[in-house]
Amino acid sequence: MKEVYLGVDLGGTRIKAGLIDAKGDLIEWTTTETEAHKGREQVLKNLAGVIETLLSKTNVSAVGVAVASPLDPYEGVLFNPPNLPFGTFNIKEFLQEKFNLPIVIENDANAYVLGEWWKGAGAGAKVLLGITLGTGIGGGLVYNGQVWHGAWGLGGEFGHITILADGPLCNCGNRGCFEALASSKFLIETYKRLSGKEATPKVIYQSAIQGEKEALESFRILSRNVAVGLASLCNALNPDVAIIGGGLANAGMLLLEGVRLHFDSLLLDGLKGRIELRLAKLKDYSAVYGVVYKSMKAIKREVNG
Ligand SMILES: [Zn+2]
Repeated sequence: MKEVYLGVDLGGTRIKAGLIDAKGDLIEWTTTETEAHKGREQVLKNLAGVIETLLSKTNVSAVGVAVASPLDPYEGVLFNPPNLPFGTFNIKEFLQEKFNLPIVIENDANAYVLGEWWKGAGAGAKVLLGITLGTGIGGGLVYNGQVWHGAWGLGGEFGHITILADGPLCNCGNRGCFEALASSKFLIETYKRLSGKEATPKVIYQSAIQGEKEALESFRILSRNVAVGLASLCNALNPDVAIIGGGLANAGMLLLEGVRLHFDSLLLDGLKGRIELRLAKLKDYSAVYGVVYKSMKAIKREVNG
């Protein structure tokens, strides 16, 4: 019988989920609103609903859930996710009791990097470093097919390395974090400062493509900051491939070329010209692919001891 896994990406706005087989073929895909503003019970109901819908299609070996939250990936405990109404909550226990299946939990940014390593832009990398640029900055490091978790599962918070002492205030309470200097909020504010206009990242991108000076300059400043943060991480961690994903990566080559302009000059000599910079490939599917890969490995370990 075909081995099938169920993967879920639980974000603050949407729940995305799919059935994927052991070869990495997507069999079924569904999404729904998270409805985080309605509270924990409603979110759990929506999450369970998505899982039930997919379970009704076929037998699955395990369920993997990627969550937009700081968490303990071993115990499955979420620690006060900023965009989900959970507080401190053991989501693994909840799902295990409800579905009586092996449950695997992973942070969504880590799952994104693992998914890209398995079937996306990071395929074949020995050490893959990934960042997502969106409302915030997430990140992760995968080596030999495993997520680097740090001592307590909270490793890889790349958005909160300091790149400018006394810089702008970050959501985490510190100043000058990578996230405060290279997120969509930073792009919006930079564009407003230069042009006097309020616009979404998508509109700023369109204006840049049409050659508007302020929009191009905003992307130039953003790209340089991305290069500074990314090169610092690469100097410390020596990946062979680094990927950029998240909403701002929709700017594609405009962003990537801007980052490449500065990236190599910021690397240590031994690394210059050797780290491949790529855009993430799996878009909406990356975190689901990541938790499915992790679930598959967890099951194999159980079977083989
Ligand atoms: Zn921060």
